Amino acid sequence: MSDSTLRIGLVLPDVMGTYGDGGNALVLRQRARMRGIDAEIISITLDDEVPDSLDVYTLGGAEDYAQRLATRHLTRYPGLQRAAAAGRPVLAICAAIQVLGHWYETSAGERVDGISLFNLTTAPQQTRSIGELVTDPVLPGLTQPLSGFENHRGGSTLGDDATPLGRVRHGVGNGVGDGTEGVVAGSVIGTYLHGPALARNPELADFLLARAIGTDSLAPLDLPEVDRLRSERLAAARR
Ligand code: GLN
Repeated sequence: MSDSTLRIGLVLPDVMGTYGDGGNALVLRQRARMRGIDAEIISITLDDEVPDSLDVYTLGGAEDYAQRLATRHLTRYPGLQRAAAAGRPVLAICAAIQVLGHWYETSAGERVDGISLFNLTTAPQQTRSIGELVTDPVLPGLTQPLSGFENHRGGSTLGDDATPLGRVRHGVGNGVGDGTEGVVAGSVIGTYLHGPALARNPELADFLLARAIGTDSLAPLDLPEVDRLRSERLAAARR
């Protein structure tokens, strides 16, 4: 962490804010504050250059057109790429996985170059994947099932040496029939889980927070309402 305040980058909420994923930054801030750590959210919009000096970054889902605007901005101001190269944790949701890959094809068939933080490509699936998504994480350090809501037309094919975030238990995930969900490349994590994902998956929130702060262990938080939300959503996926 750069100084005594944890700085959480909410990247392009003006164009990648359609699915409520800005909540991930709120969850990180709140879970830090509950442990007595000062934290603030820095919103980076299309009017701003992307800084490379923040402690953790979150990017949300978007519709195809907005996603293209975001791609252009991240290519023009490569602060996120520098932050990722320096090992800063980054959470990329849905459209952001696609933008952070090598390229993606929109539903209209246009191919757009991404910023290649992830070794993957994305093309439209036959049908849109919508519904509850539950996965078993394969990322060391995560032990609890991941729960969320997916809503995407794009299906992402991982490159040969790319590591998924999890294996699908319920739902579609990356959507190319290999049972994978999401992707991990160094400190950068991508997932199709909306929810927001960090509200539904406190273990993932603390995984990112611990790396942002530079600690191996965070004091546990006792939040029965979060446990109830998890049980309720995991049960909904089984119904
Ligand atoms: N526009 C992308 C797709 O449909 C991403 C959607 C999203 O972010 N939920 O695949």
